[in-house]
Amino acid sequence: MPFVPVGVLLRDAEEQGYAVGAFNCNNMELVQAIVAAAEAERSPVILQASQGAIKYAGLAYLVAMARAAARGVRVPVALHLDHGTSFEQAVRCVAAGFSSVMIDGSHLPLEENIALTRRVVEVARAAGVSVEGELGRIMGAEDEIKVEEREAFFTDPAEARYFVERTGVDSLAVSVGTAHGRYQGEPRLDFERLSRIKELVRVPLVLHGASGVPEEAIREAVRRGVRKINIDTEIREAFVGALRRELGAHPQEIDPRKILGPAREAAVEVIRAKMRLFGCAGKARV
Ligand SMILES: [Zn+2]
Repeated sequence: MPFVPVGVLLRDAEEQGYAVGAFNCNNMELVQAIVAAAEAERSPVILQASQGAIKYAGLAYLVAMARAAARGVRVPVALHLDHGTSFEQAVRCVAAGFSSVMIDGSHLPLEENIALTRRVVEVARAAGVSVEGELGRIMGAEDEIKVEEREAFFTDPAEARYFVERTGVDSLAVSVGTAHGRYQGEPRLDFERLSRIKELVRVPLVLHGASGVPEEAIREAVRRGVRKINIDTEIREAFVGALRRELGAHPQEIDPRKILGPAREAAVEVIRAKMRLFGCAGKARV
């Protein structure tokens, strides 16, 4: 199947009250793990690559791998740019075949964020590609984007409505208490704020930094209207954890496949569990 725009997947999620998992990838094993998990769970899925991932793997490789993976399965697959920060990067991804892009202007003053996001929406819409915007600043580190605690702030609901109306984005990433990377202590989500945003904003909401958030908090976020949930850190932990175990158990092994294969399997298991938690398992229309 060709890539499906994220907007299409999220419309179905909105109708049926679940969230679609968006999983970060930067190599062949992770692309395979994500799509294999989706096929096993009969789940729609979003493969996402950050600018750092594109720098590492190369844009052409990422698109080709994702395309090969999507062709081999019957579930809907989207390819999404995670945290694009420039208009040029977004355009390159649209031209390369991504079905969705995020433009993260959250570090900019509101009107500049709106202006940048609108430019991306205009180009993407013409190509049938969906756009995710971000308002509010999510704490932590996502590849090359680092936000200190003192710089982070939550999304203002009224501003969120204004932002969505002015930009025409298909979905909105909100800052309601999650963080990128690993948590120190237990994250506390501001559910009241999430519900208020949901009341005022008509597009699906996106939760970033969801690795390490307790299951019950994820369920509550989905009940309150989150329709796309990003997972990166927990996949990395599973993948690299398995690599460490294999290397430790077989110090003489020199076949990369013997080390990377079990890491890929470990990633599949984490991703499948997330799909069941988010409610997207079993929701693929095939
Ligand atoms: Zn993020």
